[in-house]
Amino acid sequence: MRLLPVWLTCDRENGLNLKAMDAEQLREHGHKMVDFIADYYKCIETFPVLSQVEPGYLRKLLPDSAPVQPESLQAVLQDVQTKILPGVTHWQSPDYFAYFPSNSSVAGFLGEMLSAGINMVGFSWITSPAATELEMIVLDWLANLLKLPSDFLSNSPGGGAIQGTASEALLVVLLAARDKVLREVGKDGLGRLVVYGSDQTHSSLQKACQIAGIHPENCKLLKTETCNEYALSPESLTDAISHDVASGLIPLFLCATVGTTSSTAVDPLLALGKITKRYGIWFHVDAAYAGSACICPEYRHHLNGIEEADSFNMNCHKWFLTNFDCSALWIKDRNALIQSLSTNPEYLKNKASQGSTVVDYKDWQIPLGRRFRSLKLWMVLRLYGVENLQAYIRNHINLAKHFEDLVAQDPRFQIVATRTFSLVCFRLVPANKNEDYVNKLNRELLDVVNSSGKIFISHTVLSGKYVLRFVVGAPLTEERHVIEAWKLFQETASTLLENS
Ligand SMILES: *Cc1c(COP(=O)(O)O)cnc(C)c1O
Repeated sequence: MRLLPVWLTCDRENGLNLKAMDAEQLREHGHKMVDFIADYYKCIETFPVLSQVEPGYLRKLLPDSAPVQPESLQAVLQDVQTKILPGVTHWQSPDYFAYFPSNSSVAGFLGEMLSAGINMVGFSWITSPAATELEMIVLDWLANLLKLPSDFLSNSPGGGAIQGTASEALLVVLLAARDKVLREVGKDGLGRLVVYGSDQTHSSLQKACQIAGIHPENCKLLKTETCNEYALSPESLTDAISHDVASGLIPLFLCATVGTTSSTAVDPLLALGKITKRYGIWFHVDAAYAGSACICPEYRHHLNGIEEADSFNMNCHKWFLTNFDCSALWIKDRNALIQSLSTNPEYLKNKASQGSTVVDYKDWQIPLGRRFRSLKLWMVLRLYGVENLQAYIRNHINLAKHFEDLVAQDPRFQIVATRTFSLVCFRLVPANKNEDYVNKLNRELLDVVNSSGKIFISHTVLSGKYVLRFVVGAPLTEERHVIEAWKLFQETASTLLENS
């Protein structure tokens, strides 16, 4: 590991006089912090991607209590370097290929910095009109980029709001859907409400059901099949709904996914959407990861059928160069959300809100307080421009395709699911070995490559098979990183097979 900034060792400062806020101190220390972070990015390849520390490592390194007297920034950054960074898994490393990416970018960083600088709390329009209005504008921009139907735009009864995460987006729309139906059937209908997803739907659906009071047995995750590429089949949804209606249950909500977490499967939105219309079910589409790709015309067809959706979500903080957190949610009926989530205490009353001429985003989300997150998305869109953003996505998908080709050329390996975006699902499959052995072998392969510190990947299980997931999506990743990663898999496989 290389040592970070030079100024840490050559600059003596004392920390006794840092003011609560002071423009000149902010300038001086801010410059140093930016230097520190820039140096971090400069050396990021030299760190082990997956942190190699043991649980509890940090308590041994830090004092038991906060300092009574102030310390210097220099002392703190020295600790960051020697004690904190070893415990960091480097999501921005070009050798990071795990889970899904969580992009940082120059534009996203600058937006985050500006948001931290202004540090307003924009729960109502009046608390910072620009925050609400910019959010509406950039979500309209993004909706248009994704060619979302016009009833998701801010000049319609619907609109968009930035949530912290896809999980919160899903929860708030589930609450809106639940309350809409309970207003019709009465509060004691709660135990009969049914929520549908597939066995590939993100676990945030289950969590949202737990919080929303949906009976655990009524959160139905329908089985998907290998032959269907793990997409939810419309037939199985119709069957489940008919069965539930016949048993006196009330179908409430379907969460379909464009780009599932395990294998980036794409559910057939149009067919599923038609079914939800027939039964009056709220239709939510989760494109947390793959939504970003749909700004490219050649991937937009994955959103065909989105006209049928009541709500749609994509995480700009995954693969859209916007620093965490920034999850874009659009909804067709903003009133459904507002009826579930609004409160109107005396101390927040103001003329603009009372006049109903403005959007108060506090009524579109769980917390009251909210950050100026639209700044970073605005800066990403403006400082990169659509063409560069499309090129960014295409480059990652091409790199993933290259990796897939390399895997396919080695007979010891197998591609397990069709690659649709920038995720390759694959495994090592030596001849004449049983499934248990192969699963164990792949678990070992994952452990060995990750503990090398050279790359970081994650896994999933598909149809009982332990599968390696290799996702290209970090901003610094280039072809050479993908090629080196593949060499590491090949060499590790050779060693494991020799020793078995
Ligand atoms: C990552 C992901 C989520 C959860 O995202 P958070 O923003 O962390 O809540 C949900 N659904 C899908 C398909 C995802 O890929």
